[in-house]
Amino acid sequence: MFGFLKKVADYTRDAVDAANYLFQGLSVTFDHMGRRPVTVQYPYEKLIPSERYRGRIHYEFDKCIACEVCVRVCPINLPVVDWVMNKETKKKELRNYSIDFGVCIFCGNCVEYCPTNCLSMTEEYELSTFDRHSLNFDNVALGRLPTSVTTDPSIEPLRELGYLPQGVIEPHGIPAEEPRAGKLPSEMLEWLNQNSRPQESSERTNESVSLEKKD
Ligand code: SF4
Ligand code: SF4
Repeated sequence: MFGFLKKVADYTRDAVDAANYLFQGLSVTFDHMGRRPVTVQYPYEKLIPSERYRGRIHYEFDKCIACEVCVRVCPINLPVVDWVMNKETKKKELRNYSIDFGVCIFCGNCVEYCPTNCLSMTEEYELSTFDRHSLNFDNVALGRLPTSVTTDPSIEPLRELGYLPQGVIEPHGIPAEEPRAGKLPSEMLEWLNQNSRPQESSERTNESVSLEKKD
């Protein structure tokens, strides 16, 4: 008799647990039924990359002085600077410049350290090819101006989640003048400058006080 009652109790507990798990799963389903879809219909719609997005590198042949700083600061020595020494002028003559985007990790070191600013990161992210060797861009391919999501009339640009107004998750139909939740990089810099000044001055005051004490 006791064994039978224990089996009934176990069965009841399992049934209650199963109903509980079922309800938890369905509650997620019902929650999502009330939401609007956030699907991006690529390639007719594309997300606008963030301001500091590190995409395909743009290169200006005329500004390059073949110093090879970009090669030295690259973690994998990737850029190939093809130059010869002109014995008459005793100056380097640049022949070709290439970066293999099949290997590049888009760290941006070469762009950061180039002394003539002839390299720049663009917002171009569509680099897929059938053959990885065609990702080895020469100076002509690197010099092509980047495509832009916002200037292409055949594409509807959509804001990324971080750039939508506060509390909005649906990127469609947002007016351009609607303010975004996050700050612009320029606004962040301004905010950092404003907030660092009092700290710097207090640090300086502390330093002068400690110096006075030593005297
Ligand atoms: S660092 Fe700039 S200027 Fe120097 S070789 Fe590289 S791209 Fe040219
Ligand atoms: S982005 Fe980084 S990995 Fe790519 S070429 Fe420049 S330094 Fe090298």
